[in-house]
Amino acid sequence: VKTLEDRAPLRFTRMTPLTPRGFFLQWSVTPTRASGDYVFSVFRAGAPNGPWTRLAGPLANQYAFVDDLRTAADVTGDPYRSPTQFSLGRRFFYRVTCTTPAGQALEVVDDTDPDLDPLHAQQWRRANFDFNLSVRRQGIPIVVLKRRRWGVRCAKCTDPKTGEIVRAGCVESWGTAIVGGYWDPVLVWGQRSPAQQTTTVSPEQRSDSAVYEVKLPHAPLVERGDMLVCPRDNLRLEVDQQSQTEIGTVTVHQTVRAIEVNHDHLIYRFKVETQNLKPLV
Ligand SMILES: [Zn+2]
Repeated sequence: VKTLEDRAPLRFTRMTPLTPRGFFLQWSVTPTRASGDYVFSVFRAGAPNGPWTRLAGPLANQYAFVDDLRTAADVTGDPYRSPTQFSLGRRFFYRVTCTTPAGQALEVVDDTDPDLDPLHAQQWRRANFDFNLSVRRQGIPIVVLKRRRWGVRCAKCTDPKTGEIVRAGCVESWGTAIVGGYWDPVLVWGQRSPAQQTTTVSPEQRSDSAVYEVKLPHAPLVERGDMLVCPRDNLRLEVDQQSQTEIGTVTVHQTVRAIEVNHDHLIYRFKVETQNLKPLV
């Protein structure tokens, strides 16, 4: 995947096949000073200049979209004949548009070409398949809570001029400064290592915390500050570092260093319903 505008305020951070469903898109927008809704639309085309089929939107405050090609009415027959193939027989182009709270119109276009030769594409397919099979057999369900980084700024805990958090413990924004705190939970299968103890020393105190290494699928992209919830023991971890295993430049899976959150932390009051969640990958 080539990012056309690396420094654009709106950019794709993931565009990856979700075998056998279709494609997963994730994007990021550099927040503007103005508080308010960021309104997104998602389009697909078979050529860089369209014609574009609207897949979603306008929707406020989205960060990702799954294009399920098995149910897409406009994609029939040939274009998606081999859903288990990494190269889907035809390149798709995706376009995401965004209207910022300040009224700025942003747009990003990219294609699904993985930039891998056939041999590496085959290796990616196998490695990705093996990883997903292995975490389903040996791993645990993990809920990814992606931290909101844009949207309506919380009036209850932030300074209206600077946007900085001036009051702790807010259950409207959960310490993120943005109303809602986190995006809708995403369920995946992952592998959590045994806990390792680490000690952090600050002028006020010395504290021990448990650190975990967690292997996660290639989507969604997990970043520092996101939360991981393990429903089986309700352990909640904050992502500290993320790295990824790649073939060429295409991500096979992610490995994150995550720190256990103290049980008196606000995030334990954030309700995560998992009953109706289906695994993304
Ligand atoms: Zn707040």
